[in-house]
Amino acid sequence: MHYTGRLAPSPTGLLHLGHAATFWTAYQRSLQHQGTLLLRNEDLDPQRSKPEYVDAMIEDLAWLGIDCAPPMIVQSHRISIYRAAFVRLLSHGYVYACTCSRKDLTQMIAAPHEDTDDEPVYTGHCRPAPNALPQTLQPSTNYRFRVPDGETIRFNDANLGPQSFTAGKDFGDFLVWRKDDLPSYQLACVVDDADSQITEVVRGADLLKSTARQILLQRALQLPAVDYLHTHLLRDEQGIRLAKRHDALALRTLRQQGHTPAEVVAMFSR
Ligand code: GLU
Ligand code: ZN
Repeated sequence: MHYTGRLAPSPTGLLHLGHAATFWTAYQRSLQHQGTLLLRNEDLDPQRSKPEYVDAMIEDLAWLGIDCAPPMIVQSHRISIYRAAFVRLLSHGYVYACTCSRKDLTQMIAAPHEDTDDEPVYTGHCRPAPNALPQTLQPSTNYRFRVPDGETIRFNDANLGPQSFTAGKDFGDFLVWRKDDLPSYQLACVVDDADSQITEVVRGADLLKSTARQILLQRALQLPAVDYLHTHLLRDEQGIRLAKRHDALALRTLRQQGHTPAEVVAMFSR
């Protein structure tokens, strides 16, 4: 099978050293396998995505020396494809309407969540009975995927080794379709990875639980399985994750400070 990987940045800010480290690994993997690396613009967040960040990410990747095969995939151009996948999930009873407000959801969380990158496990407030018929499509409604409670999702990570996450415990019923009529990240990602015939997904370890969710979506949509490599998250001297820092570590800033691409690569290959 021809190796196909992808870089999937969200254009909500400038690429920083943490992104660069993950993308560099993805690039090296594609080179080792003489494969193809695609670029996907994950611009589904209408409030936070900005065209100038798309231009910036293309420029910063080129500066770093990462080559992607054209054309760039643009998620905001593919909404009807995601909607078709969502309708399939709905007609097979995999998803249900969730009318909980943001406020309800915060109040339902018993304990504060230490894993701040991850959403709290949904309580199941709007879950229909197990034998309920599939629901119909309602406008302006959030829909959640009903996870198989207690089932352990396993995958073998090319970097971190065997991984396992239990549905209903490590993650709960997650958003698939949003009331602003857009797919969730999980759905768009799975549909795109399948359409692009991605063979290996390289992403940061902050997305391990999303990988487990996406495996469930692949199964429900009868899409092929994918291999995974999760990269360690870069931390600064204080142990703070780079993704959390909005300051000096943007690739652009490093470049303006006169660092060469090779010096930047050396920063995360230490
Ligand atoms: N757009 C997502 C992010 O930047 C990435 C997703 C992925 O690799 O699946 O966090
Ligand atoms: Zn609900």
